[in-house]
Amino acid sequence: MAIATARGICRYGCRGILRLNHKVLSPSTQRHESNAFSHGFHTKEHREYGGLVQSKTDACNTIFKMFLNHTHEMSIPALQAALSQYGILWKTDPRLASFRNEIEILKKERRHSDFHPDYCNQDELQRLLGNPRCFAIISKALSRQCIIPDFARFSEKIKTIFDYIKPDQSGKLANYIPQLAKEDPRRFGMALCTVDGQRIEIGDANVPFCMQSCIKPFQYAVAISNHTSQRVHDRVGKEPSGHMFNEIKLNDKEQPHNPMINAGALVICSLLNPESPLADRFVHVQNIVSVMAANEYTSFHNAVFQSEKVTAFRNFALAYLLMEKNCFPPGTSVEHTVDFYLQLCALKMTCLSASVASSTLANGGVCPLLPDKRVLSSEAVRNTLSLMHSCGMYDYSGVFAFDVGLPAKSGVAGGLMLVVPNVMGVMIWSPLLDERGNSVRGLRFCQELVRAFNFHVYDNLRYSESKIDPRLSATPLTYDEEELRAASIPYWASEIVD
Ligand code: GLN
Repeated sequence: MAIATARGICRYGCRGILRLNHKVLSPSTQRHESNAFSHGFHTKEHREYGGLVQSKTDACNTIFKMFLNHTHEMSIPALQAALSQYGILWKTDPRLASFRNEIEILKKERRHSDFHPDYCNQDELQRLLGNPRCFAIISKALSRQCIIPDFARFSEKIKTIFDYIKPDQSGKLANYIPQLAKEDPRRFGMALCTVDGQRIEIGDANVPFCMQSCIKPFQYAVAISNHTSQRVHDRVGKEPSGHMFNEIKLNDKEQPHNPMINAGALVICSLLNPESPLADRFVHVQNIVSVMAANEYTSFHNAVFQSEKVTAFRNFALAYLLMEKNCFPPGTSVEHTVDFYLQLCALKMTCLSASVASSTLANGGVCPLLPDKRVLSSEAVRNTLSLMHSCGMYDYSGVFAFDVGLPAKSGVAGGLMLVVPNVMGVMIWSPLLDERGNSVRGLRFCQELVRAFNFHVYDNLRYSESKIDPRLSATPLTYDEEELRAASIPYWASEIVD
């Protein structure tokens, strides 16, 4: 098979796993290797793949070679710069915590000796990459096996799209919630996070804003995770309404059309831990959203909450209609349900944190940056994406599904959350809205994105005349990349949960 051939004979003419670059190998590494050989392969250091026993030491040695400098040591900043190129935020990525710690320890040790604190030898590199999670992501990125292999090229294109749309100042701020009318209309931010945790941030990506309706997919997903689909959809439909998100209208069964509009979201709120005090109910949803966002920024926008609460006549009217039609479980309080609904709308995030939460939807319910733990069930994610696809963009959902062909959700504060399933989560924020309530620049960003890349669900992955498929690499792997890929594949499996 291709992998076996690629790594069977190395450039130094050795076969199998004990191929080593003796020129740069430290004595202690050689000792370790020969021990590993004579005592048989240790389960932690070697894993089976394609009939070959692969060695983590081999993979580390290949990485070492890639960043080797004139002193026969490896430059740590060069490795870090390469990770940045592949979109891995090595300074903050929670998967790389042990890598950062080990670097600090190593720097201290080297400062007390004659060695350069920015360099390391092969043994030391093994220490830096000792944690399986760190090793998995670093080897995957460096061998260009992440979902977007040529990330620098992809980033360039994304930045071009952002800059192209930026001058568009059309649209209006939402003013039916007085506090939202005070937002700076020039704000424009975008962030994305792939299923391998590769990230891009542009413009106001770190400025908090109110999620508003962008929270609806998350609260629905939590409800599905807490209950069954059946129990939830006994009370809420799955059809787009064809009306404004706050229209006083129910479907033929006198139920809300779907959970992505206000009426449906109010019913979803009534199902979320109804026995608990309001404060606990909010914290329950916030905690789950926070884990989806790898514990990045989430907060509460009290000013927007207060401002919306005193003008929430429409939502109260909807809630009373729902009460009259027995849409809520017995014992539901209209007052509490509207309050809880408005609290969730007032959840604050940034494009950065929301793009990570969105990537959890792209990644089947497992946050790419915290891959040890499932946050949402696959069923909850599949349901949520289906409803975002058909109902997420208000009464523009049909055109959006046709033009962009991806699940998305917009909010009146100007957020637009987009999911490219199995690839990435995106959050765009620009508060100027069109007549339907969608962010003008958010919408244009999505349109330009699928004009450039074949992300539309009906774009063909094999035969596409002009679009780029960023999942494919434009250039063949180099020898080192191929070698690293072959030696490290078995270790990536540690990324899979369940
Ligand atoms: N809080 C807003 C409302 O209920 C949410 C609507 C939205 O973002 N579309 O009207």
